[in-house]
Amino acid sequence: MRFDIVTLFPAIFDGYLTQSLLHKAIQRQLVEIHRHDLRDWSHDPKHHKIDDRPFGGGPGMLIQAPPTVECVEDIERASPVPARRILLTPQGRRLDQPLAEDLATSPRVLLLCGRYEGFDQRVLDILQPEEISIGDFVLNGGEVAAMIVVDAVVRLLPGVLGDELSNFDDSFSRGNRMLEFPQYTRPREYRGHRVPEVLLEGDHGRIAAWRAEASLQRTTQRRSDLLPDQANTNKHENSPDFG
Ligand code: SAM
Repeated sequence: MRFDIVTLFPAIFDGYLTQSLLHKAIQRQLVEIHRHDLRDWSHDPKHHKIDDRPFGGGPGMLIQAPPTVECVEDIERASPVPARRILLTPQGRRLDQPLAEDLATSPRVLLLCGRYEGFDQRVLDILQPEEISIGDFVLNGGEVAAMIVVDAVVRLLPGVLGDELSNFDDSFSRGNRMLEFPQYTRPREYRGHRVPEVLLEGDHGRIAAWRAEASLQRTTQRRSDLLPDQANTNKHENSPDFG
């Protein structure tokens, strides 16, 4: 899978792209990440300016349409693989796991990171990108939002995680769309807190049943909006506490 990231601050991604899972995925050629400095498409050869004041007044600056549209067109021409265009904005569709799973099926995703007050509306009118938000709050720029999209998507690509199934049961994921069950590792007891006995007995059927019940109870307590069938909730209210 290929990502093209359009940004005014390509160096923000340096640390993120050179660490951990993402770095390994790049090295193993499971994903390509290309950063593009929007200033390279500036129409101002002297100062490489790409922003200007909004018509009608108001605080802040806007990213201009001509460099942005031409940048996206040039980037798209550089590879024959059609790109899914995404513009990061607090006004977009909220990113969630089904959307990340859907993006992971795309061979190429182009991410447009805003800064200042965002983009001139004609960027949206001409390029017609999908607009994606990472939540109902305002960041200084789209770079962190782009990293979140990349991070959520890359871990879903085949071969990136050691175990193909490890993203199946994660919270919100396609396994059941609920919160994940609690997990434990060694030691078996710590400060009086014991690992539930059923997890130590090696009976895979009982472990699966315990986990399904724990996942359901945790989801009922914390995120009942995720439950597939609200009628299921009542019968678990008196179950033991899974934490
Ligand atoms: N004036 C814009 C508004 O009110 O909708 C906010 C601009 S924000 C300061 C600058 C840039 O940060 C945006 O263009 C966008 O790329 C990015 N950004 C801020 N919050 C975001 C969010 N919740 N999700 C995705 N991108 C965000």
